[in-house]
Amino acid sequence: MSAMLSNEKWEAVIGLEVHVQLATKSKAFSASAVQYGAAPNSLTDPTVLALPGSLPVFNEEGLRLAMRLGLALGCTIAKHSRFARKHYFYPDQPAGYQISQYDEPICAGGSVPILEDGVRKEIALTRIHLENDAGKNNHAGARSLVDLNRAGVALCEVVSEPVLRSATEAADYMRSLRQIVRFLGVSEGDMEKGHLRCDANVSIRPRGREAFGTRTELKNINSFKFVQQAIEHEIARQIRALEAGETIVQETRLWDADAGRSRSMRGKEEALDYRYFPDPDLPPLEVSDATIEQIRSELPELPLDARARLIALGLAAADAEQLSSERRLLAYYDATLASLGKSNAKLAANWVSGALLAELGRLGKSIGDSPLEPARLAGLLKLIADDTISGKIAKGILARMMESPDEAKDIVEREGLGQITDSSALEAIVDELLDNNPKQVQGYREGNQKLLGFFVGQVMKATGGKANPKMVNQLLRARLDT
Ligand code: ADP
Ligand code: MG
Repeated sequence: MSAMLSNEKWEAVIGLEVHVQLATKSKAFSASAVQYGAAPNSLTDPTVLALPGSLPVFNEEGLRLAMRLGLALGCTIAKHSRFARKHYFYPDQPAGYQISQYDEPICAGGSVPILEDGVRKEIALTRIHLENDAGKNNHAGARSLVDLNRAGVALCEVVSEPVLRSATEAADYMRSLRQIVRFLGVSEGDMEKGHLRCDANVSIRPRGREAFGTRTELKNINSFKFVQQAIEHEIARQIRALEAGETIVQETRLWDADAGRSRSMRGKEEALDYRYFPDPDLPPLEVSDATIEQIRSELPELPLDARARLIALGLAAADAEQLSSERRLLAYYDATLASLGKSNAKLAANWVSGALLAELGRLGKSIGDSPLEPARLAGLLKLIADDTISGKIAKGILARMMESPDEAKDIVEREGLGQITDSSALEAIVDELLDNNPKQVQGYREGNQKLLGFFVGQVMKATGGKANPKMVNQLLRARLDT
């Protein structure tokens, strides 16, 4: 299987075009609603159907979202851009052309960050442009059914430079992009609903050579797993072909996930074939500096920046990664820290990503609608930090706080759950325990160190788990080691 992946002799070159469905309520150029799972062809209008006399009107929210994404990724926003018609026939596209942007896209440059062995790496972008989606052809046996609900939905296409070098890197890139669009609220980023679809361009070249080889394009891949599989498979296919003395044909291929292989769909079109020209029905998009700066000022902290910040607070990389993976989880964690103080960053991380998420899972709730608010969780964690209660007691209190509005310290006071830190009370318990277990005392003194655990356990049992474990250990050793 020498040709499975780009190997010592060959290097893979990959560029991705990712279509991101923008989270607008209505379509890109008309008023029909955008809604997943509605009855087929219920979300159409004269513009979507391309009826004579209908005219497109651009959805400003789509522009705002595309600019928000572009600014977050460090793109240059074009103050002047415009729409073009991209002509091709498809049954799910009644107009016979797609409205897209060609020579004047809304965003240029920028990059998507990924992590490579924990180190941040920027994957350069060529551009991001706006366009509308086509409908959907559903093939049912001998017949094909066209559903135009998706036709006209606002997309932006994020085009990378040919700078990715492996299937893994490509999948990481797509994961990072999805996380970012979700963080920004630019897209719901739901892969199952096709909110992110990727065309992967793949070529190989002898390692060390600068010129690119001929590329093929794998169309419409809609999962991270398939991106990885399809590209791996395509790299191997091209290596095999070249090593057998064949040439690679520039073509569009379709990934068949069930068969685990791709097949040729059509020869690749050149831009010329699309007969692009500026759409005469739509005025150019003009955006002011003030608008750009306004959108820039509203950008949230991005996942990898948050991750770096959390690591600087002392969190383990895995915890930092989890807590920064979703905006509401990060906001919850940050709000907890705001009440608790940064010196307890690790404690808060353990409890938010551990016990809290587990409780939420048990209740079937998400972090955004946690019945336990960050400030009340911080109140509970304070009691752990200052040794008022043990972690074990705290777990039980946390579960109860999910179902009541009580503050942790009130529960602890009311029910006397605070740790026993009064040493004379503990001494009495320890003395009684040792008196009642002479055999074990003898065993310990003869060298069976494990019996210390037995004694600690007995004290914890006698105190309902409320003894301070550190103190119990000290007291027991003082008694037993003399
Ligand atoms: P289109 O596919 O619409 O014709 P482009 O020609 O601009 O558009 O290329 C689209 C994508 O193909 C980009 O992501 C780019 O990085 C990638 N690409 C271009 N040339 C190659 C190549 N030789 N190998 C791999 N990817 C490539
Ligand atoms: Mg393409």
